[in-house]
Amino acid sequence: MATTTNPATPAANPATQTPHFPEQVTGMYILARALKNVGIENVYGLVGIPITEAAYLIQGQGIRFVGFRHEQQAGMAAATEGFLTKKPGVLMTVSSLGFLNGLTATTNATVNCYPMIQISGASDPTMVDMNMGTYEQLDQFNTAKPLVKAAFRCYKAEDIPAAVARAYRAAISGRPGGVYIDMTTPALGQIMNREDAEKLLYQPVDVYSPVAPNEAAVDRAVEMLTSAKRPAILLGKGAAYAQVDDKIKTLIEKYNIPYFPMSMAKGLMPDAGPLSALSCRSTIMKEADVVMLIGARLNWLLSFGRGKWNPDMKFINLDIEPQEMDVNVPTAAPVVGDMGLSLDAILAKMDGRKMSTDPTWVPSLQTETKEKDAKFATRLESTKSLMPMHHWTALGVIKPIIESNPDVILINEGANTLDDTRDAINMSLPRHRVDCATWAIMGMGMGSMIGAAVATGKSVVAIEGDSAFGFSGMDFSTACRFKLPVTVVIFNNGGIYNGIGKPMDETTDPAPTTLDINARYDKLGEAFGAQTYYVQTPDELAKALTESIASKKPCLIDVQLGADSGKESGHIGYLNPAPLQDITV
Ligand code: ADP
Ligand code: MG
Repeated sequence: MATTTNPATPAANPATQTPHFPEQVTGMYILARALKNVGIENVYGLVGIPITEAAYLIQGQGIRFVGFRHEQQAGMAAATEGFLTKKPGVLMTVSSLGFLNGLTATTNATVNCYPMIQISGASDPTMVDMNMGTYEQLDQFNTAKPLVKAAFRCYKAEDIPAAVARAYRAAISGRPGGVYIDMTTPALGQIMNREDAEKLLYQPVDVYSPVAPNEAAVDRAVEMLTSAKRPAILLGKGAAYAQVDDKIKTLIEKYNIPYFPMSMAKGLMPDAGPLSALSCRSTIMKEADVVMLIGARLNWLLSFGRGKWNPDMKFINLDIEPQEMDVNVPTAAPVVGDMGLSLDAILAKMDGRKMSTDPTWVPSLQTETKEKDAKFATRLESTKSLMPMHHWTALGVIKPIIESNPDVILINEGANTLDDTRDAINMSLPRHRVDCATWAIMGMGMGSMIGAAVATGKSVVAIEGDSAFGFSGMDFSTACRFKLPVTVVIFNNGGIYNGIGKPMDETTDPAPTTLDINARYDKLGEAFGAQTYYVQTPDELAKALTESIASKKPCLIDVQLGADSGKESGHIGYLNPAPLQDITV
């Protein structure tokens, strides 16, 4: 075999060698086998040098390879599979930009505590480190490291099975997160005798070891909860992720404790249940004396546990992550451990004990809920016949349809579209709502929709602002190629926040916040063979959504809203760095 004349290239450069099949295999084959061994069922990605053949070999193992148009969306799909199944979703990308595009999603997964593994092809690190200007040269391993939970770099094919097994463990153990594997070209292309390769492959044992909380911590938490006068439970997406639905239900119902769900914990207990305090967020913050956090962080989404909160509040915090204790406010009763084991221990200790709840507490929340719900219904009613439609007009139509199809998974992003949909649509099943989560980002829609459909086989409806859809719209074509039972509903108000922004006098360019109120997103769906609708009235929308869900095919509904529907930054305008000038007119 000829060797390369480039003196800096190792003599055994695998790219110059050809395996003799079937006696020999490559690192790519070992990767496919290692993924199969840990139980991976779906890989989301986008092929190119150096991972194309690996993707075929992965398919050859009976693993589904879902090929996307953009790595970021493939990553969002992997992350969503991780959240919904408690098993890491896998993203596979090429090197350099493909890697960076994917890293956005892996970073977002890490922030949101979703388990996923990003595997990116990478140039020969010996050449990258010598700054030789090799193909797609980037030190991907060190770029990823600060943004992910763990990172591994495979120099040799022999390392691949352990890298995959360790990445799997890292992704789901402790606080779940994104893990990166730098799969270098030399490792992917390395040729081995099949017999030697087989010996490397193994089935990792006991990949998730739940950690129990300590007894004193459980005693303290139970003491605090049972002596509370105005207790409440705050459910976060960590509670939904943990799949401990029955234990949470028992704790809430047996001890009559009102609950408030964060957006992705909606449905863990029914939003419209008798103990739901969904409409009483500020009352709970102000008036509860003990709040048990179950898989929720006291971050910006909860005003950091300060300010609007009762200053004498005692927080009980159930979380797998010890460093989540005392964040922003002291934790009165930390319970560090796996959610299932923590709840088991708490329920066992509670058994036979009486709560000290003030008898007026729950009824007062129920009264407040009734009043707020009535107000909300009036609001929906008052926008019912607005033409062109308002967000609320459209949601008044969508609400009963989604609520009567509780097993449909709802994906939701946008500004007003996010806020209003979350507020309008009650969920009644756990893990049926996925949104832009902790960072409140945009650009997760199509990826999450596809990941949810692939991972669960269920029907999915994505309610998207027109701006949000723009980030990932091309990957609607992926849903079409894979014939997934998904419906995209686009609220077109012609802009980011709304479509009435006026440009500064100095320019003839469009305003920074405007998009296209006349855009026909349904035509985009048509290009990929989807069932599409353009709707301008509530009746048209009701018909389109009902038909779409029933069809179990890829559908796209362009909902024409008025350009004045929606306000700047939705509910979080206060986060702007200075009071806004009059930018919308
Ligand atoms: P939300 O945005 O809904 O409030 P967060 O993402 O802020 O939720 O919080 C989720 C929390 O759940 C994280 O602090 C995470 O460590 C925790 N968590 C995730 N999985 C588990 C688990 N299996 N057991 C216990 N805690 C968990
Ligand atoms: Mg918009």
